[in-house]
Amino acid sequence: MDVFIEPIGRLMNEFSKLPGVGKKTAQRYAYRVISMSEEEARSFSEAILDVKRRIRFCKICGNFTEDETCAICRTRDKSVICVVKEPKDVVALEKLHEFEGVYHVLHGVIDPMNNVGPSEIRAKELIDRVGEGGVREVIMATNPDVEGEATALYLARLIKPLGVKVTRIAHGVPVGGELEYTDDLTLSRALQERKEL
Ligand SMILES: [Zn+2]
Repeated sequence: MDVFIEPIGRLMNEFSKLPGVGKKTAQRYAYRVISMSEEEARSFSEAILDVKRRIRFCKICGNFTEDETCAICRTRDKSVICVVKEPKDVVALEKLHEFEGVYHVLHGVIDPMNNVGPSEIRAKELIDRVGEGGVREVIMATNPDVEGEATALYLARLIKPLGVKVTRIAHGVPVGGELEYTDDLTLSRALQERKEL
C-alpha cells in the first residue's frame, strides 16, 4: 500500500516530473501546496496553464514569445545572429546586456549517438535566414561539448560559402560545460574573444 493518500501521491508524482526533483523534494513541494491558501493554490496552477496557453516560438528565431515574433527579432541588429542550443541560453546571454544582435535557437544539437541529425534541429531555418541576406556575422554559441562543437562546425561549413563570417565563442566556457551555468564574466569574455571558424 502506498504511504501517501491518493491526492498527495498524485501531486508528488506531478512534481517529480520536473528536472532535478526527486521523491523527497516532490514530497516537500506537495506539503507546501497543502499549506497554501486556496487563492495561492489557484494562482499557482493558473500560472502553469497560462504559460501553456500564451507561450509559443518566435517564427524567426525560435525563442519563446507571446506574439508571432519576439521583441529581440523586432527591435535589434539583424546583421549579427548568435546561434544557441536552447531558449535558456538566450536568457544567459541577455543577462550580460552586451550583445546587440539577434538569436537563432536550434532546439537541440546534432547528436548522432542519440539519432539527432541536422533535420531534427532548426538548422535549415538558420541557413534560409542567412541566405535571405543582410547578415554579416553568425556567432556559434552552442555549448563547448562534443555535440556543440560538431554542430558549430557543421553549420559553419554550410554558412561560409554564402560569404558570411562565422565565429565561435572562445573557450572561457569550460569544456563540457553549459552556457546556462557559466558565470557572467566568463561568458562575457567568451563572447568578446570569439574566433573565426
Ligand atoms: Zn525572435
